[in-house]
Amino acid sequence: MKVLYASAEAAPFFKTGGLGDVAYALPKELAKDPEIDIRVVLPFYSQMANEYAQQLKEIAHFRFQLGQRNVYCGIKQLNYQGVTYYFIDNLAYFDRATLYGEWDDGERFAYFSTAIIEMLEVINWIPEIIHCNDWQTAMIPALLIDRYHWKESLKNIRKVLTIHNIRFQGVYDASMLPNVFGTGFNTFTEDGLKEKNHINYLKGGINFSDRVTTVSPTYAEEILTPEFGEGLDAVLRLNKWKLNGIINGIDLDINNPKTDNYLPYHYDQKDLSNKVKLKSHLQKQLFLEQDSQIPLIGIVSRLTDQKGLQLVEQIMDDLLQQNVQLVILGTGDQRFEDSFRYFEQKYPDQLRACIQFNLELAQQIYAASDIFLMPSAFEPCGLSQMIAMRYGTLPLVHETGGLKDTVEAYNKYTGQGTGFSFNGFNRDNLLFTIKMALDVYFNQKKAWQKLVKQAMSKDFSWSEPAQAYKAIYIDLLKESVN
Ligand code: ADP
Repeated sequence: MKVLYASAEAAPFFKTGGLGDVAYALPKELAKDPEIDIRVVLPFYSQMANEYAQQLKEIAHFRFQLGQRNVYCGIKQLNYQGVTYYFIDNLAYFDRATLYGEWDDGERFAYFSTAIIEMLEVINWIPEIIHCNDWQTAMIPALLIDRYHWKESLKNIRKVLTIHNIRFQGVYDASMLPNVFGTGFNTFTEDGLKEKNHINYLKGGINFSDRVTTVSPTYAEEILTPEFGEGLDAVLRLNKWKLNGIINGIDLDINNPKTDNYLPYHYDQKDLSNKVKLKSHLQKQLFLEQDSQIPLIGIVSRLTDQKGLQLVEQIMDDLLQQNVQLVILGTGDQRFEDSFRYFEQKYPDQLRACIQFNLELAQQIYAASDIFLMPSAFEPCGLSQMIAMRYGTLPLVHETGGLKDTVEAYNKYTGQGTGFSFNGFNRDNLLFTIKMALDVYFNQKKAWQKLVKQAMSKDFSWSEPAQAYKAIYIDLLKESVN
């Protein structure tokens, strides 16, 4: 079974968030299966670290027509941990300061999507399935059906789209169709790409794919509603028959408190004494009082309103009246960066706002904290809460999307649970739940230790989710034979 996994980012080469983790770990897991030949295609951004860049092999280069222009495309290849990666090289599009957020993202990913299709005959490897991810590669199905439908070799390719976050859709002027994609307006219909008077890449992906998945069962339900569907709920309801929610896993090799290279001390479920040492190490590093008794609350997050940080702002004064320390690591909206810096100045003994993207500090926070705060307004899956649990740090989350599917709330009668959660997205519920968690922390130490062990023994491996994707691939191939 030949599968091409198309993504705009994948760790360890390029990562801005969860998609980067998934696009690394899922193909790696599927590649262990002798029945699956899965390869990954990514843009060749100039951000690639030297250690990888110097191993790249140039395997082909050619030109193709992107609307009215003739553009260059280089293909570089790398075999890494059992997976073949192709990198699409064009400096004009991918030698930029950031992976996304550029003024011409619509054209950059139109180029990327078209280049992926053009590449297949050149490298002489035609997949049976193309697995697209998010809006950046969501135009591939429409292109295969419209611009490339006459190509015999590509005719039987089946198309899967995974939605990692429906908020980002890729909405652009309809003139992109002739000018950049080089097509007519065949796909510019309500049951195609058209949304109002624009084209919507993600809508096209939903309509033209054979299967659509998203990254948790609860989010799969939520996006069918106007509240969470970001304007695409009606389209999704029409396509519900092909929609599935498959929970993400986390990479257990990278996220392992026993071996994590970013940690100066290691621990496991049987002996947590080094977790306490890591707390003291982090407190020292951040110039916070070194006291293992003070509960340490951690946040590692993009700083956007998706992550519920407006609630954290609202409760900050109340929260820091408690005997707690709070460490926030993240970058994002100026508004949050500024307000967390402000609170850091106001509460210098209790709060650290580390406004950076720092993988090492992230792992140290997961390990050193007692509570991991993630009150997301919506959360397609969320990886951070799973990483926290694996490190014995109890997540405190809003019951939405993947947070609802992965965190089992503490039940004070049975002692069951792996964290804390609240329903009803408002400041009072968040504050109430934090106070309840602190009460368990201070006054029910045994119950707390039990929760920590339960959290650490949860299975967040990729093996089951990978099987679920494989089942979809198998189904699709059966359909194409029939
Ligand atoms: P999302 O994809 O919505 O950002 P996820 O929880 O799915 O959220 O994944 C976030 C990933 O990015 C996690 O691996 C998390 O540790 C990492 N991350 C987020 N912010 C930072 C940061 N400032 N520094 C380092 N890693 C970060």
